[in-house]
Amino acid sequence: MAMHIPADLRIGTHDPLRLPPESWRRLYGLACARCGGTESLRPGGHAYTRSADGARLGWAVNVCAACSTQADDRTTNGS
Ligand SMILES: [Zn+2]
Repeated sequence: MAMHIPADLRIGTHDPLRLPPESWRRLYGLACARCGGTESLRPGGHAYTRSADGARLGWAVNVCAACSTQADDRTTNGS
């Protein structure tokens, strides 16, 4: 049986994303989708990624207390 050099782990039929582990943590809701923090995570809507064949995948992500779920939320700026 031939030995495989463990250099390419992306040989599965499902390799939609070429993302580093940190990005996976965010997509799985283990870290804030915006800053990567892990404190006081709350539902932050959905993030979308594109698979190798062009399909869109939706992920229910979380954001931390310091990050807003809305991009245009400026209430914390005090202006
Ligand atoms: Zn955050």
